[in-house]
Amino acid sequence: MTAVLLPSGLEELWALWEQHPTAMPYAGGTDLLVRLRKGLAQAPALICLERLKELQCIEERGPELFLGALCTHQELLEHPLLRGRLPVLAQALAVLGSPPIRHMGTLGGNLATASPAGDTLPPLYVLGAEVELCSPAGVRRLSLTDFIRGPGQVTLGPREIVGGVWVAPPSDSVRQHFEKVGLRKALAIAVVSLAALIDLTPQGVVRGARLAWGSLGPTVVRSPRAEQALLGGRLRLPELRAAADIVADEAAPIDDLRATAAYRREVAGNLLLRLAQYGGG
Ligand SMILES: Cc1cc2nc3c(=O)[nH]c(=O)nc-3n(C[C@H](O)[C@H](O)[C@H](O)COP(=O)(O)OP(=O)(O)OC[C@H]3O[C@@H](n4cnc5c(N)ncnc54)[C@H](O)[C@@H]3O)c2cc1C
Repeated sequence: MTAVLLPSGLEELWALWEQHPTAMPYAGGTDLLVRLRKGLAQAPALICLERLKELQCIEERGPELFLGALCTHQELLEHPLLRGRLPVLAQALAVLGSPPIRHMGTLGGNLATASPAGDTLPPLYVLGAEVELCSPAGVRRLSLTDFIRGPGQVTLGPREIVGGVWVAPPSDSVRQHFEKVGLRKALAIAVVSLAALIDLTPQGVVRGARLAWGSLGPTVVRSPRAEQALLGGRLRLPELRAAADIVADEAAPIDDLRATAAYRREVAGNLLLRLAQYGGG
């Protein structure tokens, strides 16, 4: 039988981990426990992080928000700071999994899983989020792009965990948008998703654009050329179509069980057309 260790604070975690160096940490268990049960992962012992209260807060700290790694998707979704200041992330959380998955799964678990279809990733990429990592040696911050190295691969040292995420909320002139296309309306893993931050002048001209697609490559895919194409124009269908063509041309997705590469490329471009709703076009 696998031993499960239950530290009630970070100091206890470091001490237990030193005694059981091969133990594997988990939070909600919605990913790891499923993989263990299927024999896709092995753990001589498990460390459950759910009692680390210090990593369960959602707080404004100076100009940034700190989102604790142990917050469940539902806790984040219900928090007024998140709904009010980071709607792009709230929209993604609202369609992540199902109610049981949202009540158990955590932000830290979603990041550490580093799935190409992880729903919190595209919003956190466009928000320029940084990941806080904690270990007995202290705390360090890494950009999300440096943290996620590939599918299922993240930058974590020995006995290091994700402590939380730092995000500077965009200004009010920025439209925040997330949409996921799946094979069904509920409990859908993304076939393609798009997170977008579009900064508009009072006249409706695009003065900043940040775009990120999920499930379009091994990690989140950005398109600086499509972002550039939107600058100086309006969110109307012709301008959006030009940017969509760039994405469809650049993207190199794979065929898999859920969709063909050609379908993914087309949907990735078409998702941009939805931004017309913010331009009155
Ligand atoms: C039916 C079903 C539907 C799903 N649907 C979606 C979906 O629509 N979108 C989506 O993005 N995901 C989905 N998932 C995947 C999963 O639920 C999420 O990725 C969830 O956020 C994982 O969080 P967790 O806390 O449960 O992770 P866990 O299972 O506890 O851990 C996952 C991995 O992360 C590591 N880990 C966890 N917390 C930390 C930490 N703080 N620091 C370092 N490492 C850590 C663990 O060691 C493990 O390797 C689904 C899963 C299931 C079973």
